[in-house]
Amino acid sequence: MAQKRDYYEVLGVSKNVTDEELKKAYRKLAKKYHPDANPDNKEEAEKKFKEVNEAYEILSDKQKRQMYDQFGFDGPQGFNGSQGGGYYSYGSGFSGFSDFGDFGDLGDIFSSFFGGSSTRSRSSNGVRRGADLKINIDITFEEAYLGVEKEISINRNEKCSTCNGSGAKKGTTAEKCSMCNGTGKIKQIATTPFGQMATQKICSQCNGTGKIIKEPCSDCKGKGIVKKSIKLKVKIPEGIDEGQTIVLKNEGEVGKNGGPNGDLYIVVHVKRHNIYSRKAEHVLCDIPITFTGAALGTELEIPMVDGTKEKYKIPEGTQTGTKFAIKNKGFKSVNGNWRGDFVFTVIVQTPKKLTREQRELLTELAKTMNEQPPIKKRGIFG
Ligand SMILES: [Zn+2]
Ligand SMILES: [Zn+2]
Repeated sequence: MAQKRDYYEVLGVSKNVTDEELKKAYRKLAKKYHPDANPDNKEEAEKKFKEVNEAYEILSDKQKRQMYDQFGFDGPQGFNGSQGGGYYSYGSGFSGFSDFGDFGDLGDIFSSFFGGSSTRSRSSNGVRRGADLKINIDITFEEAYLGVEKEISINRNEKCSTCNGSGAKKGTTAEKCSMCNGTGKIKQIATTPFGQMATQKICSQCNGTGKIIKEPCSDCKGKGIVKKSIKLKVKIPEGIDEGQTIVLKNEGEVGKNGGPNGDLYIVVHVKRHNIYSRKAEHVLCDIPITFTGAALGTELEIPMVDGTKEKYKIPEGTQTGTKFAIKNKGFKSVNGNWRGDFVFTVIVQTPKKLTREQRELLTELAKTMNEQPPIKKRGIFG
């Protein structure tokens, strides 16, 4: 397959393009490359036209754009399919044209071009892709570190099982619509920005389904679709970070008239931890040490996020604020097979209370150190 061009490049816009600029750039290019506007060079124009549309579909959707910015075309390696789940199944399976709702009068022109064999939104017989759903999920810091499987509940439109989605009462069938002869569409000649063109309108009698239901199914009132509360298991991969999204393909709302289902977007939120924090793939943490330990050197037991302990020797003369790193004990990268580090900062504790014996020992010590340390130019923590 040919190398795909960057979506921003395709639309000739910058990475921080606004919605308004994006729409403008898209309209301009869609007009320019519309195959009907390029009768001498139809094939090339069609290719460009599809490229432009794909780029717009991703960049105009906030979530898809975020994932594209994060993962590019392919999504993180090792995620697609290999772990059994459908998460991050980004790149290959985009459903094409989900909705031209905000595209105004050009919508029908596009559907006339893409209609027929495709299953895109306003193609034949009211076939329509189901809507995408979005939910938020909260997980703990440890769950983000280790990965976790969660059960989620969602309310979504599903095919009515009583009528198997037909909308007709059990034992009856829907009849062919007489106005459109079952095609769901009415042909029209319209004046458009590209000149006179044949367009298709959705049949008003059958609402594009091509069918008339005489006796509607009582469970779904003839819609063929019912709202259901369902539970799903979601695998959350280790290393996931605040705000990252998992996509379950086809787990959104059911499509209409045999159209594909929408997708389910699960936005992950990681709760704050009272010991650890995260920076990129590193785990950060403060470790208090005694001032004698700092002066003489000591062996620490550092609690890791997974519950294990790591021994770490800090050298004599360690200053407060010094950072140490335990390699490869941070978060696993969701993009690849590597880990960040566990970085801890030692905080030297000065004792607030002393026993009589300690006070005497310290007083003896102080006699040997009665000079004030020299003041350095950039401060003692520099
Ligand atoms: Zn039904
Ligand atoms: Zn009709």
